[in-house]
Parts: sequence; structure tokens; C-alpha cells
Amino acid sequence: MTSILIVEDERHLAEGLRFNLEAEGYRVRVAQNGETALALLLAQPESFAAVLLDCMLPGKDGFAVASELRAAGKFVPILMLTAMGRPEDVLRGFEAGADDYLPKPFELEILLARLRGLLRRREWLHRERSTEQTSRTSNSKVELEDEEPAKPFAFSGKVFDFEQLELRTASGVVRLTLMEAKLLRYLIRHAERAVSRKAMLEDVWGLHEETDTRAIDNFIVRLRKYIEDEPTKPKHLLTVRGVGYRFSSEAI
Ligand code: CA
Repeated sequence: MTSILIVEDERHLAEGLRFNLEAEGYRVRVAQNGETALALLLAQPESFAAVLLDCMLPGKDGFAVASELRAAGKFVPILMLTAMGRPEDVLRGFEAGADDYLPKPFELEILLARLRGLLRRREWLHRERSTEQTSRTSNSKVELEDEEPAKPFAFSGKVFDFEQLELRTASGVVRLTLMEAKLLRYLIRHAERAVSRKAMLEDVWGLHEETDTRAIDNFIVRLRKYIEDEPTKPKHLLTVRGVGYRFSSEAI
């Protein structure tokens, strides 16, 4: 059974979510504040398949919870619930390491779809890991979507391992969150072509509403820290003025 952690201090909202997620067949645990959530997630990171994290919590808020988890090397997928009309929350959420977000109030069906999206990406990773020694043919047609396995990608003395969500460089191994990895993979797949911020939001996050595209820029800053020798003078992840970004496997 897939376990979801809901972090929400508004009891009626938390219980409503619990009711609906349990009806969908999930096992649900509710934490009413960030401290409890962190304690649970740091103690048993593998027990939850995903976290629904409200950004507004008493004490430690959702942003702090997300960034502390990521700083501790815990990469459980996070769907952050933000306040409607506060694009700065979206940006802060992504900066803190959230994988996706949903503004409140939301439609239950949209929340379930976003959650399934996160879980599907996670399942794909797990399937890849668990089938390494066994047959790759069974289940191979299940929900591969654009998520088919990919060989590690090498460029400029670095190796990006899509399956392990790792970037191996001369100075060590960098773990990426699901969305960092997904974005990097998307840019690599579109290598040598300019891709717009809007296309990235739609294709990587599945967001079609008017989202502040600065969220993308924050991700790019992070990816540059990982892949560029001098992040302020990028040679691989290039800005294309007026359009977006372009990945080049050859250092420019
Ligand atoms: Ca709240």
C-alpha cells in the first residue's frame, strides 16, 4: 500500500484529505506541524512515497521542512500546497526543494492527478532499480510515458545517471531531486536547441496555468551549480535571451 504523509495544521482540511486519499487506496498519516513531519521523515524516509506539504504551518513552515529534508539528503517527492495568489510561495517552494505545487483552494481531482504524477515518476525509478537483475520485459509497457529508461549521459567529464538521480563529477556525487533530474533530462533531450520557460513548465511540471516562470530560473541556478565549473559563467546550460535556455553537451 502506498503511504502518503499529509503535513497540514488545519484539522478539517487534513482530515478531508485523509478521507479522500484513503478512499483512493492510499495509506495516510497526518502531521500537524513541521517538527513532527521532519521527525517522521528523517527517521523513516522510505516509509512515505510522497509528502503533501502545506507551506503555512505554525513553527517550522513548509519551506523549512522541505529545505531541511533536502539538506539531510532525503529526496522523498514533495507536493507543496501554497496560498492562492502568492507566486512568491511557489518560487520559495521550488527553491526549498519541492517537486510540484498546488495553490489552495484546489480541486481534489487535480491534487490526485498531481500526486499520481509524482508517484509515477518515483515508481519508474524504483522499477528500474528493482528489475536490474531480473527480466526487463515484464511490465515494460506500463506507464512508461516519456519516462523510458535512459543510459547515463556523459559530458565534460561528468556523468548524469538518470536512474539513480545522480550527477557524478570529479569532485563527488550530487544527488538531484526528482524535478531537478527531470528538468536536466529534458534539457539534455533537447540539447543544442533553445527551449522556452513555458515549454519547460508544461513538459516537465505539467503546469498549464499561468505560472511565474521565474520558478524555472531558480532550478536553472541550481542545475548550474551542479554541472558548471563556474556557475556564473555557464558553458553548458546557456541562457537564450528572450526565449529560455539551451543545453550544450560541448562546453561553449
Ligand atoms: Ca496551514
